[in-house]
Amino acid sequence: MLTQAPRGTRDVLPTDSYRWQYVEDKMRHAAAEAGYREVRTPVFEHTELFLRGVGDTTDIVQKEMYTFKDKGDRSITLKPEGTAGAARAFLESNLYADPLPCKMYYLDAPIFRYEAPQSGRLREHHQFGLECFGAQDATADAELILLAYKLLSSLGVKNLSVNINSIGCPECRPKYHAMLKEFLSGRLDQMCPTCQSRFDRNPLRVLDCKEHKCQELVKDAPSMLDVLCDDCKAHFAQLQECLKASGIPYQVDSRIVRGLDYYTKTVFELITTTKDGNLTVCGGGRYDHLVNQLGGPDLPAVGFGMGIERVLMLLDSEGVVIPEPAWYDVFVTYMGENKLSAFTLVQQLRNEGLKADMDHCGRSLKAQFKYANKTGAAITATLGDDEVANGVVKLKHMQTREERTVPRAEVADAVRDMIK
Ligand code: ATP
Ligand code: MG
Repeated sequence: MLTQAPRGTRDVLPTDSYRWQYVEDKMRHAAAEAGYREVRTPVFEHTELFLRGVGDTTDIVQKEMYTFKDKGDRSITLKPEGTAGAARAFLESNLYADPLPCKMYYLDAPIFRYEAPQSGRLREHHQFGLECFGAQDATADAELILLAYKLLSSLGVKNLSVNINSIGCPECRPKYHAMLKEFLSGRLDQMCPTCQSRFDRNPLRVLDCKEHKCQELVKDAPSMLDVLCDDCKAHFAQLQECLKASGIPYQVDSRIVRGLDYYTKTVFELITTTKDGNLTVCGGGRYDHLVNQLGGPDLPAVGFGMGIERVLMLLDSEGVVIPEPAWYDVFVTYMGENKLSAFTLVQQLRNEGLKADMDHCGRSLKAQFKYANKTGAAITATLGDDEVANGVVKLKHMQTREERTVPRAEVADAVRDMIK
């Protein structure tokens, strides 16, 4: 127990964190390029926020939340998704009074869902998410889809398919609900228990059921796209014009509805095929009424969430090699009584902007070199009695074997010169 992490959680170890950092850098860069600035919100929120925001008929709220009472008897929930917290922060700080849109992203936001752990499905995972508040135009939706697509492609994810749909608005959706319910009513007894319970409260979700049996039964269901109101229709057309103009391949899939209640108009998913089947890496859409539902002004918004573990998993399975940075530029080795001299040299090198270290474990000189080699340090800097007496350092390039003896004051420059 003591040395075992809870089921569905994973450590990111020092041996692995460079892979995360590599992906994070690209994500930050992609977000900044489109004017998104970072937001950080708490890991937990009042449970009420998710009941209102995510919707109490969703799987997340009904089955997956980590909810508990704190010592003050308040109901608290660990974030099961990123949008509600971002919207809450946006409202609480009156960011809607600033020039809009307000574009924000979060990176590595821990997300907690009590799901059955399996490949690509954890109980704690991390998301890169973008939210754009106050933009009604489909150019904002298209820009997000494009950003996700370009980011994933540039990381090396292949076989990406972009699937889009429109699920309408409170004006046109009720009509579709009625049509869909009529279609489903004759088939309901053959569907899974979850779908049967969805029928009354959230019939749209039936389209999205992962059970094969249910998928077959809804194959010929009427399409929301046929009953969109003029406004939603025009919006969806504009989205497609933008996507076409930017030349990314996409597909309209009227079965995509997404698992959260707050979506309106655009919904989208970026899916890849792996050897174990389809994997959704990124999901998002428009949520024009969430801000209002949370007590704020009626303000349109659109966003997406991308699972970082899933991105890393895909890069792994595609065989994408992420270069591991060397721990050190230079490793200081020393002989005999010169430990203090080595220590001050390490500090000097660090002060001059180099990644530097020395042995801290009482190793022999030979073992120090062996260790330096293991760390991938490009250069070793050796201090023996002669070097210390003469105020010089002996540098050696670990790969080319080039050696130089340089005055102590010039070591950093010499190291830089040898590395390049
Ligand atoms: P799925 O259909 O796979 O359950 P979802 O619709 O529940 O996904 P979202 O709520 O849209 O997912 O979350 C956005 C992204 O976060 C997903 O596309 C996926 O990459 C990732 N994700 C969601 N749930 C998990 C999980 N349990 N473990 C790891 N990553 C996840
Ligand atoms: Mg899910």
